[in-house]
Amino acid sequence: MRRIGVLALQGSFIEHIALLERLGVEPPAVKLPKDLVGLEGLIIPGGESTTISKLAATYKLMDELKRLAKDGLPMWGTCAGMILLARESEGATQPHLDLMDITVERNAFGRQVESFEADLLIPALDVVSSEEEKGKSFHAVFIRAPWIKRVGEGVEVLAALDEGVIVAARQGNLLATAFHPELTEDIRFHRYFLNMVESGHNGMAA
Ligand code: GLN
Repeated sequence: MRRIGVLALQGSFIEHIALLERLGVEPPAVKLPKDLVGLEGLIIPGGESTTISKLAATYKLMDELKRLAKDGLPMWGTCAGMILLARESEGATQPHLDLMDITVERNAFGRQVESFEADLLIPALDVVSSEEEKGKSFHAVFIRAPWIKRVGEGVEVLAALDEGVIVAARQGNLLATAFHPELTEDIRFHRYFLNMVESGHNGMAA
């Protein structure tokens, strides 16, 4: 059984754990450095990036998370998790992991539209889709979401809103989504991440 951990300090980790269980993956909740041992992948959930970062520092997780990602462990950050993964996070007040070559802007959609939903076409999901699922849009839930302002070389854009704003990207073993796939019934993004874990993520560490 694959072991994909979920950082369980704050935020929507229970929902990620439930979807991973549906995929037949063992999803340990990670609270301390010892919980990282033996993982084949890690999800950093959405929530409040300031709080997650403070708790990760308190529990001495930051250095270990950086080391594992640099060694090639697949990591997926959703929303606040994406803020933590990014090399530059505008508006973030706490240290982040500084791993993925993207610049994100925190709370980028402004107060008036803090939360919204959008149907996105994400061709990259086709590799993990059944015949009926292929080409189907992905219903994405945005909650006080960040967006991706800049992607570095070697970063693949996976999804953008109609106006061109980038909301999902991948760089080798690192995956980032501004929205919350764990809050829908559509399991394709979790399958995509499991596929990264299973296919050895191409070894392109950031
Ligand atoms: N606005 C939150 C932050 O900056 C992120 C929101 C989310 O994860 N849904 O941390």
